Amino acid sequence: MERCRQCNSSLAKDEQICWACNAAVPEKNPKTTMASRFQTLINALFIVFCVLTVLSIFLPAGYVPTFGRCIGGLLVLLLVRSSCRTMAEAKKS
Ligand SMILES: [Zn+2]
Repeated sequence: MERCRQCNSSLAKDEQICWACNAAVPEKNPKTTMASRFQTLINALFIVFCVLTVLSIFLPAGYVPTFGRCIGGLLVLLLVRSSCRTMAEAKKS
């Protein structure tokens, strides 16, 4: 049984607003949004590309993508990342 944080009255399982005091009931498991998942993916890719870029300096061609391609990928990821951030900030305000 869930209880309202404001007035402690018992709430139905999927009630979103308290029937007694009208307070918003906080969601139990807020779903991870698509945007935050996407951001995690971009961050992971960014790290992979950083590693690849460093590797491409030391390893002979053929093992990893060329240095130029790695830098290109990094730039694209940076752009995507910054546009993600601007979108997230636009949503907040
Ligand atoms: Zn209440």
